[in-house]
Amino acid sequence: MKNRIIYLAILVVLLGACKKGAEQKQRETTNDFKFWTWITADASRTDSSYVSEFKKYKENGLDAVLINTNTDPKLLARLVPIAKKEGLEVHAWIMAMNRPGDSLALQHRDWYAVSREGKSCFDTRPYVDYYQWLCPTRKESRQHVLNLVEGLAKVEGITSVHLDYIRFCDIFLPVGLLPKYNLVQNTELPQFDFCYCDVCVAEFMKNHHRDPRKMEHPEIDMEWKQFRLNKIKSVVDEAYKIAHKYNKELSAAVFPYPEMADHMVRQRWDKWNIDQVLPMIYNHFYNEGTDWIGFATAQGIKDLANKKTELHTGIYVPPLSAKELKEAIEQSKANGAKGVAFFDGPAITDEQFKVIKSFK
Ligand SMILES: [Zn+2]
Repeated sequence: MKNRIIYLAILVVLLGACKKGAEQKQRETTNDFKFWTWITADASRTDSSYVSEFKKYKENGLDAVLINTNTDPKLLARLVPIAKKEGLEVHAWIMAMNRPGDSLALQHRDWYAVSREGKSCFDTRPYVDYYQWLCPTRKESRQHVLNLVEGLAKVEGITSVHLDYIRFCDIFLPVGLLPKYNLVQNTELPQFDFCYCDVCVAEFMKNHHRDPRKMEHPEIDMEWKQFRLNKIKSVVDEAYKIAHKYNKELSAAVFPYPEMADHMVRQRWDKWNIDQVLPMIYNHFYNEGTDWIGFATAQGIKDLANKKTELHTGIYVPPLSAKELKEAIEQSKANGAKGVAFFDGPAITDEQFKVIKSFK
């Protein structure tokens, strides 16, 4: 009888410990879920204006800011201590292969990607004036991008260098954006198909013995597509080494899920060496509802199954009601994301901040 009482007492203690463990785990999971936002910095703004902006983010539940400084390490170094003092993690956001107004690159016409029509992004820009894509194969243009990555990686206090536009120009635009450009895209159109520069063509011909410029249907040539996927991967993998050399991580803004990214922009991010991916699962761009955010998140998570890469879902906030934002966050969380990133910070409304805060 006495023994039974002792056993019961031990059982009660053990059950109590289990419950405590579960509560602890639950709390850790909630706290681990990260909230990020992308912002674009302006050197002419005062430090105090940034203090209030960062304070607002922190008070409303954000954990990290991805700052576009137009690849200016000095401006980044100025903003890092301000953001960190307010308790935010800082990520150095760089426009990688699309480099509008890059003064050094603009001195080298041959660094720019060339379309199947033979026109260079140096002066013929696909879709919009800010599309000025560099060739990822040419030694000099590739090295230029990597040098910029290194400049940001050196900045003390940042957590990661964050690659954006790490891809080719869109061969297919998001379906929801086509009417805006008055376009129909039923196949790969030559004016949006890159890079057919001398260096890309020569390297491909050396390995595969056929000329992409002479292909009747380059859109069905698997090696030609693979060649380009590999070129982007090669830039990412090198950037990863650089970031880690300075004890920083590498993250990237990418298309919704790997096969969609491959199809639309020749970006196969599940094959990359990278610490975090932030797929831009912007449902309104694709005429989709918030359930699609869950689908695309789950697809990316499945494709990353054997890798250490974390996935944080990117959410485009302007068209979302508070209710939809809540659903978007819940969909991301339920389908395996480690966090969510909002585009962009200044666009988040007070109503939306309330939703974000409620998850903390
Ligand atoms: Zn090229």
